[in-house]
Amino acid sequence: MIKKIFFIITIGLEITMAQNIDLAQNLYSNYEIYRETKLTHRRFKHADILSLINEVKRQGIFSVEKAGQSVEGRDIYLLSIGRGKSKVFLWSQMHGDEPTATMALFDVFNFFHANDGLHDIKKAILDNLTIYFMPMVNPDGAEVYQRRNIFEIDINRDVNRQQTPEGIILRKTFESLKPDFGFNLHDQSTRYSVSNSFKSAAISFLAPSLDHDRSVDSVRENSMKLIGELYRTLNHFVPGHIAKYGDDYEPRAFGDNFQKWGTSTILIETGGWKEDTEKQFLRKLNFITYISAFYSIASKSYKHESTKLYDQIPKNEQYLFDLILRNLKYKKDDKEIVIDVGINRTENNYNGANEFYFTSLAEDLGDLSVFFGYEDIDMNGFELQQGKTYPKEFTSMNEIKDLDFAKLYKEGFTSVILNSKGNSKPFTDLPINIKLKNDKRSTSNQKLLGSKANFIIRKDGEVHYAVINGFVVGVKSHFGMVFNALIQ
Ligand SMILES: [Zn+2]
Repeated sequence: MIKKIFFIITIGLEITMAQNIDLAQNLYSNYEIYRETKLTHRRFKHADILSLINEVKRQGIFSVEKAGQSVEGRDIYLLSIGRGKSKVFLWSQMHGDEPTATMALFDVFNFFHANDGLHDIKKAILDNLTIYFMPMVNPDGAEVYQRRNIFEIDINRDVNRQQTPEGIILRKTFESLKPDFGFNLHDQSTRYSVSNSFKSAAISFLAPSLDHDRSVDSVRENSMKLIGELYRTLNHFVPGHIAKYGDDYEPRAFGDNFQKWGTSTILIETGGWKEDTEKQFLRKLNFITYISAFYSIASKSYKHESTKLYDQIPKNEQYLFDLILRNLKYKKDDKEIVIDVGINRTENNYNGANEFYFTSLAEDLGDLSVFFGYEDIDMNGFELQQGKTYPKEFTSMNEIKDLDFAKLYKEGFTSVILNSKGNSKPFTDLPINIKLKNDKRSTSNQKLLGSKANFIIRKDGEVHYAVINGFVVGVKSHFGMVFNALIQ
């Protein structure tokens, strides 16, 4: 008898698991139906989502209300849908430069509007849940693409002190809803890897800790079970790319306190994916995660998970560079050594945060065999030299624009001098760095570690590649491209 019941339960669990994967597969294959096409890159602003929220309101199936205003007077909205007993609350972008989840929330709104043959799934979700959404909690930060609000306060350290209007709105909304489940939506550094595997952490989950001892009560246990299920689902699409965020208790953060106050809270941190600078693939994974979570909570399928799977999720680690050049010969004081060079590109805001450019540094060198790169190139047999500045002064950008860059690289140059006033832009689309001051010093005796990533790569005396501001380009082949060089 006991065996029979166990058998039925096991079969039941397998059916739910299969259904969850089927739903996720369906969303993955048909994502284009749901993608909000007005959001195409990360640097959208409050005004962009305002028109989309108005459109959601006009369509009438969501309830849309103003929850309050940011420091600079931008409206923060609360949208809701569903008639179920269980309350689910999702909030995004309390850090202004972490916009991936906001894009995915607009895909979710489209999901509930779409005529897509998933009527039964949506009915199950909306009969059982009432779902609340607060997209872009920090619109002033988003406006200038910065983490903190306009007072330069980290809203996610303001749950107790309540000095930011945005933090007050979030906490008040939470207290009025008392949700069963909360989704705290962020972006993490793109340089997190999944443990020491050579894979980027595309998404990292966390069931935030209640206290310094990392205790587990029934509230946190439900977060862990749901994360376990979502982990299994997402691993189906991006095997090995899902990790667990660090579980240090942070008493000033929203997620940790919401968990403590009785809401099963799930932190979702979107990380990095090769060649997805604008995070459009990662946004799709977010969308699938949220709908899968809704269906799991509605059908209670997460309850069948044990917390073991959560415990097994590999941890976030930092074994990832943007670029690693391996096994290069490097001459120092007439001695030749073999090194790997790890290069990272830092993104900087420009033009009211509507644009951005990279500055790249050689951040580590030596044996980097435990690390990996989004771009990882074996340069065995090649020699690395620091790039030099071409001694002739140019007087206009037009002159520089017409230069033969391959010829400059072949002669060992990665920078030129512009003797002109008035060009304040710090970067250029041209594949050569531009020095505004007359600085003719040779860079060849400078330190390599921490240096700007401008190099010449030779084999048997001949130049094969140049590295311009951390971007590798072929001299003898059409290899790579320079996203931007620097004007300094
Ligand atoms: Zn964040």
